[in-house]
Amino acid sequence: MQVFTLYEGSYSVAADKKFIPFDPQKDNPKDRPASLFISVQPFLVKLGNQLLLLDTGLGYSNDKGELILHQNIKKAGFNPDDVDYVLMSHLHYDHSGGMVHKVDNLMSLSFPNATYVIQRGEWESAFTNTSSSYRTEIFDFLQRNAQLAFVEDTGDFTPQIRHELTGAHTPYHQAWLLDDGQDKVFFGGDVLPEPGELLRKFIAKYDYDGRKAMELREAYGKQAAIENWNCLFYHGKDKTTGHITYNDGVFAVI
Ligand SMILES: [Zn+2]
Repeated sequence: MQVFTLYEGSYSVAADKKFIPFDPQKDNPKDRPASLFISVQPFLVKLGNQLLLLDTGLGYSNDKGELILHQNIKKAGFNPDDVDYVLMSHLHYDHSGGMVHKVDNLMSLSFPNATYVIQRGEWESAFTNTSSSYRTEIFDFLQRNAQLAFVEDTGDFTPQIRHELTGAHTPYHQAWLLDDGQDKVFFGGDVLPEPGELLRKFIAKYDYDGRKAMELREAYGKQAAIENWNCLFYHGKDKTTGHITYNDGVFAVI
């Protein structure tokens, strides 16, 4: 299995939940008090003859008006039109913004030939949610124009693509486990967004159920170590992918 990290950018996020571009070379974190500093990176995976995208980023464009996501997919040697499945962990804006993009001010699908795979409960709650973390206009557009597949609970979407309903970050957040018989690739979405979150135990305010998220991080970390998963970290800053070891109660990411 081949994995490509599609780095979209670094951002700071404050209580207003807006993502402000942050350049660690130029910007001073002290100018942005009470902010979270994160990277955003969807992943492209070649699984057999299928091309998968794991989450879609904020959907920001470069100076030429091209989606950064499209630019990165081309850099990896693929065409956005060839993406078969867009596998979504959840629908917060920093994960779902790139599902669509604007061309000449008209909304269009970023992956016109793909099936967008979404946990049903997440879809339904995203529609009715009034928080600024969800953008209803995206979901309206998808409903009318995209090929959508809804999955429920935990199960096998295909024999090689498994979804696990985790909840915790949002009530219907899900993780993805890809297995081609040779490699196992785990995408924990915002339940395991950064490698550093394995190394310290804490309850995060941004999770719907912070205690459950903390417990899941530990459980997934242990399983990743035992089964030698390649873990993909959507918000990882230094490391974006890695294998996990667990010895004497201590995790390490290698
Ligand atoms: Zn989220």
